[in-house]
Amino acid sequence: MARPVAIYTHQACELHDTGSGHPESPQRLPAIRHALEQAPFAESLHFYEAVPAETKWIECIHTREYRTYIEETCLKGKSTVDMGETLVCQDSYQAALLSAGAALQCVDAVFKEGYPAAFSLSRPPGHHASEERAMGFCLFNNIAIAAHYAEQTYGLERLCILDWDVHHGNGTQHLFYNSPTVLFCSLHQLPLYPHSGEFHESGAGAGKGLTINCPFPNGATIEQYMEALENELLPVLRSFRPQLFLVSAGFDAHRLDPLADIKLESADYRRMTRWLRKQAETFANGRIVSLLEGGYHLDAIAESATAHLAGLVEDEPENPFLR
Ligand SMILES: [Zn+2]
Repeated sequence: MARPVAIYTHQACELHDTGSGHPESPQRLPAIRHALEQAPFAESLHFYEAVPAETKWIECIHTREYRTYIEETCLKGKSTVDMGETLVCQDSYQAALLSAGAALQCVDAVFKEGYPAAFSLSRPPGHHASEERAMGFCLFNNIAIAAHYAEQTYGLERLCILDWDVHHGNGTQHLFYNSPTVLFCSLHQLPLYPHSGEFHESGAGAGKGLTINCPFPNGATIEQYMEALENELLPVLRSFRPQLFLVSAGFDAHRLDPLADIKLESADYRRMTRWLRKQAETFANGRIVSLLEGGYHLDAIAESATAHLAGLVEDEPENPFLR
């Protein structure tokens, strides 16, 4: 038996052209979609077309000046919107609105449509983007926009964002560093781009203690990841009791990823998902919203995303500490 999971995606997300040879390529989406359609649990995955986010939701996180800068730069054609790594084309603004929109639809899926979990299969990713800065292939911070939308639309008072992309989620951390309502936990390689996310970065003011950074050295494995989840995140979950879990689901901690050196296997994403399911069921009525971030080896992200979705659809997650 399996439970249904909603997936929001749009072909126009593939029109965001980052230039030939760029790791954040349009092929990432069909690679994952094809693997999910072939999965033994495919009938439990309900695919829906994403709709663009209304600009008012983008502007709850980003300044109006920044949003219009992104819009106008994209519409002018091929260009970069930061120091050179984040390339855009005419279709990139629409893709970015769809990527943010899919995140909002995922929130609606778990609060309004009766799904226990939802996944956004979209690009561009978002976790490096801050209030008025594009960075690291990210234009709008989709997960921050989704968190704010969940607070505003469904009256949530406590949310947890778990970011297991191999790069530190510096944009998301910055946006919620002082927030008492969002618990942010990032598992990432350090040293590595964007060179932040030290253990001692733990939030400030009303958000003190609600930023958790777990930096890992080259070659770290799932055992270190599970230990960090149990020892660093779980104690804070017990006191914070989030009403919703959001996941910045990058798959670039995979051992084959060309941009990093962590040694996760595809099946490890199922193991982390099972752990997350257990916490979501304890604290958040099972609700999990997961958004695609990075991951640059096409076969590895296809397998890893399938393992993640397998963990979301299975009826009774097995003990995450058993392989
Ligand atoms: Zn990444």
